[in-house]
Amino acid sequence: MEYKLPELPYDYSALEPYISGFIMELHHDKHHNAYVSGANQSLEQISEARQKDDFSKINQLSKNYAFNFAGHVNHSVFWDNMAPTGQEPIGELAEAIKDQFGSIEIFKKQFSAVAAGVQGSGWAVLVWDSYAKKLNIVQLFDHQANLALSLTPILLLDVWEHAYYLDYKNVRGDYISAWWNIINWQDANQRFAAVASKKS
Ligand code: MN
Repeated sequence: MEYKLPELPYDYSALEPYISGFIMELHHDKHHNAYVSGANQSLEQISEARQKDDFSKINQLSKNYAFNFAGHVNHSVFWDNMAPTGQEPIGELAEAIKDQFGSIEIFKKQFSAVAAGVQGSGWAVLVWDSYAKKLNIVQLFDHQANLALSLTPILLLDVWEHAYYLDYKNVRGDYISAWWNIINWQDANQRFAAVASKKS
């Protein structure tokens, strides 16, 4: 097995009332777990294809691998991006957000609009662009599409219906508003510090 489902860094119900324990348990134990299994299975099938010297299904296998592995990575970051006690943006990341977006408020507004506008299943992601050397906010379709390879996630939000429908039904905007109360800005700042500094 190449990939493993990480433990949640808090109890299922720790993010209530913003995200219910019921959603967290399903989302982590079923959805995320399925992406981990899918990524491992795709790798195994790609390995089999090498052994059989038969790459006739490599397009579908590559696609399955990208989808499932990206699902695994995104959710692993997403769990760590949240914390039971709300925080304010801190450190170099807070400064970089102000530099890039004008203010924390404007950043939150843009991020929320990006999340609300995702067509179908996807994510809103604050990324560090290692090519342009700046922060940006992008929409991610499914788990991996519509993305440039120079981007590293700093803070991301799952807006697939499975992430909020049981709590918020079709009102994605309420889920997005609530989510701002459970950001682990320390985690986001550490991710930012690992790939960038204000001077770069
Ligand atoms: Mn999800």
